[in-house]
Amino acid sequence: MRKYLVAGNWKMNGGTAANNELCEQIVAGASASGTAELLVCPPFPYLEATGRKLAGTPVSLGAQNVSQHASGAYTGEVSAGMLRDVGCKYVIVGHSERRAMMHETSEIVAEKFKAVLTEELTPILCVGETLEERTSGRMEEVVGAQLRAVLDATGVEAFGSAVIAYEPVWAIGTGQTASPEQAQEAHQYIRNILAGMDVDIADAVQILYGGSVKGDNAAGLFSMPDIDGGLIGGASLKAAEFLAIAQAAWSLN
Ligand code: PEP
Repeated sequence: MRKYLVAGNWKMNGGTAANNELCEQIVAGASASGTAELLVCPPFPYLEATGRKLAGTPVSLGAQNVSQHASGAYTGEVSAGMLRDVGCKYVIVGHSERRAMMHETSEIVAEKFKAVLTEELTPILCVGETLEERTSGRMEEVVGAQLRAVLDATGVEAFGSAVIAYEPVWAIGTGQTASPEQAQEAHQYIRNILAGMDVDIADAVQILYGGSVKGDNAAGLFSMPDIDGGLIGGASLKAAEFLAIAQAAWSLN
């Protein structure tokens, strides 16, 4: 039985005061929680302070990005070892904003995925198609290629310690959520690729949905058989909304 994971990607938002307040409100709401795991991913400069606030609470700490390199002359980059040092448990890799704006190829994403595993952290691998790719009937081709680039680099065993997030680009930050049926179709497709290599790993891997999840649409999405929680952008910046999404997972677990 897979556990739900509800992860907040704060992106490049907030500052010390706002992030402390958000963190405190989430922790206060999470202590009354059920069994789904909660995760917040603040910007790099706030990781350590947020980690201190989360210590001993049911909310985990994650990062939004990582270098594929372990150390060295990579100005401005942050390694997986550093993220482990400051208390991260998860690291998002391959978010569509990084693929599009920072030109991260699937090969770079695969290297980052491996770097995260090397430090015994859990990568959250984001995959998803653009609107143009969906409307031209290429969702499976695009998502399959993004997933296979990592599978080719790591082998399926690596997915025994990883999370996947299906995030259709057309649903991110647009208010246009994939329907539960559209999301389920993609999640099932992803799980089937893994099942073709290892049924047990495919059964166990958590596949999150991301793309305009809110308190009022989370339960419909999370009740689908292959959706194991959410990667939440905008709605994770409001504690009440994030907790409403978490509540949807708690009520289903
Ligand atoms: C995201 O960026 O990962 C995301 C899902 O954003 P939003 O929830 O705002 O669509």
